[in-house]
Order: sequence, then C-alpha cells, then structure tokens
Amino acid sequence: MTALKAIYGGTFDPVHYGHLKPVEILANLIGLSKVVIMPNNVPPHRPQPEATSAQRKEMLELAIADKPLFELDERELKRDTPSYTSETLKAWRQEAGPDRPLAFIIGQDSLINFPTWHDYQSILGNAHLLVCRRPGYPMAMKEEQHQQWLDAHLTNRAEDLHDSPSGKIYLAETPWFDISATLIRERLQKGESCAEMLPAAVLAYIHQHGLYQAISEAG
Ligand code: ATP
Repeated sequence: MTALKAIYGGTFDPVHYGHLKPVEILANLIGLSKVVIMPNNVPPHRPQPEATSAQRKEMLELAIADKPLFELDERELKRDTPSYTSETLKAWRQEAGPDRPLAFIIGQDSLINFPTWHDYQSILGNAHLLVCRRPGYPMAMKEEQHQQWLDAHLTNRAEDLHDSPSGKIYLAETPWFDISATLIRERLQKGESCAEMLPAAVLAYIHQHGLYQAISEAG
C-alpha cells in the first residue's frame, strides 16, 4: 500500500496559523509525510476573495517555504470554473489509482456544513476526511440524518486511514486555534496587530502590497 496522501483545500485569503498549525499536529498524530495545499479559484459557496489568486498563491509560498510537510498545488487556481471538492477528488482518485489512501483535510466548521457541499456523499468514495478542531463550532451535526452519516464513517484508529483507500472520517484531537482569515482582514482594516496569527513573511507581504487595508497607512 502506498503512503497516505492528504489534500487541504481552502481560500487562504490570507493563509494563517489556524490553517498551518493544526495540520502540522495532525500530520504528527497520524503519520502523514505530505500535505498538498490546494487554494480555490472560485469558491462556490462564498463571496470572492479579496486578494487575487496570484497573491494568495504567493502568500502560501511564503508560508510554507520552511515547512517541507506542505506542497502547493495550483490546479484549482488555474481553473476558471467553480472548484467543487467532489470533482477535484474524483480527478485525484483517477490519478492515484484505486488503492492509494487519499484524504481531504477540513476544519470543524467545514464538517458541520459538509452536507451542503456539492455531491458531498461522493467525496468519501474517493477519500477519507480528516477533521481538525476549531473553536466556536458544535461537535454534532445539525440534522439527525447527517449525524448518522458521520457516525457510520467515523474511526478513531489512524491505521484505518493507511489501510483503506477512502471512506473514513477521523476527528483529530488537535488544539484549538482561534484564528480566521475574516478576523485577520477585519483587524488589518482597523490597523490592529495580527503578528501572532500568521507567519511574519506573509504579514510583510500583506503590508508591502497594501492588502486588506482600508487606508494604505493602516496596520
Ligand atoms: P474565512 O474567515 O475567510 O472564511 P478561514 O479562515 O475559515 O476563512 P478558509 O481558507 O476558508 O479559512 O479555510 C480552509 C480550511 O481551513 C477549512 O477547511 C477550514 O475549516 C480550515 N480552517 C481555517 N481556520 C481554521 C482554524 N482556526 N482551525 C481549524 N481549521 C481551520
């Protein structure tokens, strides 16, 4: 069986420690050697990002420059159609063949909304789901039928993730990081410090390019 490969999708507008730190800890917990970060181009459920695709990519490159765990994949950034996770994972599965274990990493907030994602049930046909904790979101699904779906796929054994190609949901006991890109954008607009929330090189890039700031002197 080839090594478990994990993919981490998101908007990363901008990338922050709430993205990076839980996933580094998760990687240690379950024995992951590579995480492919895959920024979205046109996220279907959300307003458009403030930074351009090129800027989000450059911030990610700066954030992972000294972190060999991560590698960047630009396939969704280069598309001009909506990037549905179900479609992307189908493509990953085709590339990887039927046996290789694949996983998709999300935060707790994404798990709660997961049943609203396009064709969400097919996702577990192609990958496992690895869920990082995030403060402020419930641990249970809103609807009973979705809780049953979750319970039917849950595992607390990391071995299961390596021993089967897809189909499991693993709730990782990662620490809470109370950081969001929205909070960072709001703080920067008000000229408040975000130094603890994201890598210094990313913050320097934000200031250099005048991103997320109402007035260029702010921050
Ligand atoms: P925004 O505030 O703009 O909605 P975000 O900070 O939630 O953005 P995204 O790029 O939308 O970041 O998130 C990408 C993935 O990272 C999602 O699966 C999300 O659940 C997860 N994530 C983001 N922040 C955290 C956090 N603080 N803890 C755990 N997971 C997180």
